[in-house]
Amino acid sequence: MKIMLDAGHGYNTPGKRSPDGMREYEFNRAVANYAKQLLADYKNVTVYFSHSDQRDVSLKARTDKANSLNVDIFVSIHANAFGGGGWSNVGGIETFVYPTRPPVAYQLAQKIQRTLVISTGLDNRGVKTADFHVLRETKMDAVLVECGFMTNRNEIKLLRSETYRRTIAEGIVKALAEQFKLQRKANAAPAPTLPPAKSPAPAKKDGLYKVQAGAFDNEQNAKELAERLRKAGFDVYIDKE
Ligand SMILES: [Zn+2]
Repeated sequence: MKIMLDAGHGYNTPGKRSPDGMREYEFNRAVANYAKQLLADYKNVTVYFSHSDQRDVSLKARTDKANSLNVDIFVSIHANAFGGGGWSNVGGIETFVYPTRPPVAYQLAQKIQRTLVISTGLDNRGVKTADFHVLRETKMDAVLVECGFMTNRNEIKLLRSETYRRTIAEGIVKALAEQFKLQRKANAAPAPTLPPAKSPAPAKKDGLYKVQAGAFDNEQNAKELAERLRKAGFDVYIDKE
């Protein structure tokens, strides 16, 4: 199947940055890149990008490209903002479909929303409808996911971290794989572990239940997540298997 990943905006799109200067596109493109890498592990999947690091691509050019390539699904990736550009406590994840709620798009949006809320622990703002250009002008099913608020002091830290960007990409790919029953290639690495995961090792017989929050092949990524959890008040340890 043909999947189009749409990293919202471009490096030079006016506005579209956090109060402390992170460009939204920087986050969006990183998630698209990670998702493309992860999708390479699945059979019969071709990934297209609607966006470009070289220039800001108009909304019309994006949906024209999706329509002319006749892709099967269009996934638009964004980071949110609230208010007039200052900081705010508004936060969380939300996913949009066109107001007619096309069934496949709606099911995929629900899967993306559920997966990201679990894997990020951010507030669930729900699946919503909106008359956005990329949802309206695409002839195929389309979803738009807002992966946290650039205007929230806590969430901007996440949006800047490679661990979080990868977590978002893993969630989107997991949802796509479930929705479209994608098959992993025989030689692909094991699928990334997303919570809720089984406990790493059975402990004493009379019961000790552990909750795993992530599994990485890169030690630095593990340390970043551990640090995030520590700051959130959890007791954390890193276990190498
Ligand atoms: Zn955006």
